[in-house]
Amino acid sequence: MNSREFPRRRKQLMSMMGTDSIAILPAAPIRMRNRDVEHDYRPDSDFYYLTGFPETDAVAVLMPGHNPKYVLFCRERDPAKEAWDGDIAGPEGAVNGYGADDAYPISDIDDILVGLLEKCERVYYTMGAHRDFDQRLIMWMNQLRASGQRGGHAPEELISLEHHLHELRLFKSRAEVGAMRRAAKIAVAAHRRGMRLTRPGLYEYSVEAEYLHEFRSNGAVCSYPPIVGAGANACVLHYRANSKKLEDGELLLVDAGCEYDYYASDVTRTWPVNGRFSKPQREIYQIVLDAQQAATEQVQVGNHWNDPHEAAVKSITRGLIKIGLLKGTPAKLIKEQAHKKFFFHRTGHWIGMDVHDVGDYKVEEQWRVLEPGMVMTVEPGIYIAPGTKGVPKKYQGIGVRIEDDVLVTKKGPDVLSGALESNPDEVEALAAENQKPKRRR
Ligand code: MG
Ligand code: MG
Repeated sequence: MNSREFPRRRKQLMSMMGTDSIAILPAAPIRMRNRDVEHDYRPDSDFYYLTGFPETDAVAVLMPGHNPKYVLFCRERDPAKEAWDGDIAGPEGAVNGYGADDAYPISDIDDILVGLLEKCERVYYTMGAHRDFDQRLIMWMNQLRASGQRGGHAPEELISLEHHLHELRLFKSRAEVGAMRRAAKIAVAAHRRGMRLTRPGLYEYSVEAEYLHEFRSNGAVCSYPPIVGAGANACVLHYRANSKKLEDGELLLVDAGCEYDYYASDVTRTWPVNGRFSKPQREIYQIVLDAQQAATEQVQVGNHWNDPHEAAVKSITRGLIKIGLLKGTPAKLIKEQAHKKFFFHRTGHWIGMDVHDVGDYKVEEQWRVLEPGMVMTVEPGIYIAPGTKGVPKKYQGIGVRIEDDVLVTKKGPDVLSGALESNPDEVEALAAENQKPKRRR
């Protein structure tokens, strides 16, 4: 990320907080995978958004109206530890490399942070995200309250930091859009690899491997565990096993995105394992694609957050009536939310540093108005699990979702992952590439 971004963000947040206030953000802890093996470390998005500081065991403090304004508590350098685990910035590195006005060893936080809290009236903090740190903050506040009789001073208010901070994160800067475009581009290349490899007899994980290869060879990681579901597994929204053999005649749904420079993509395509959609598969696919296009057209400045979803619901309801899976008039069925039998999630979510990114969807109980710089997914789907009542056999076991990441701009929707084929003929052409040639008789 452009190094000018971080000071700009801190400045913006501090101007929203006002003087006499302090914001406190702890870094994410290391989490264990099993016994003594750690999960890959991923900084907390709020913490990283403001600091660009990639280490654990750190606490950022912002104090507009004071000097220093930006203090980082972090681990001290330790050559013996660094020989095993790599470089540690240390307080000096936090100042020289990460723009802190002042930095202290994390081991000194009990003494120093209480002194900083004492100077302020309002504390901005996110309760509930880091339980251990919540307890420590409450302890420091209580210490200050108890010292009141001795002339000490405790802050009066504890305010949720999320409200201001997540409002900032909702609007992506040019540099952020650049990272998201890159994350989308890598995901597009990965999906093409996945489609090209597919043929009956391989496994869901064989296809997953193509994504991992493409992500890692571009310096990206998965932004969430890839969902690679063949046949009925495509109907399980968060299917994770990725272990089934791909069978001739099935569809394969892959929902996989990557994180590049801490920004996520989230992209889904569905294609035939044998390179050709059957007629019922193509019918369902086309209904989802039409809904996705109708929804994407609604991603316009001035529209409401819910407009794309409403367009998708309308389009899917009409489509399902046409093939006989819903019976009745569109108006009545939409009112009854009849689509929920087959399309039971919403059409999208904000996306950014987090796949399901922060930002309010409603403002004063009204759906939020779309503004330039917001990025959302558009991802309608139809899922007909085997044994679904009232559905002809030929449609059972079909699951289709098509998902792209869309930036709101003054010129209309900018589909960041729009280079990826979604037209059924083009999807078939890619999925046909690795099929075994038919044996001649
Ligand atoms: Mg997805
Ligand atoms: Mg999504």
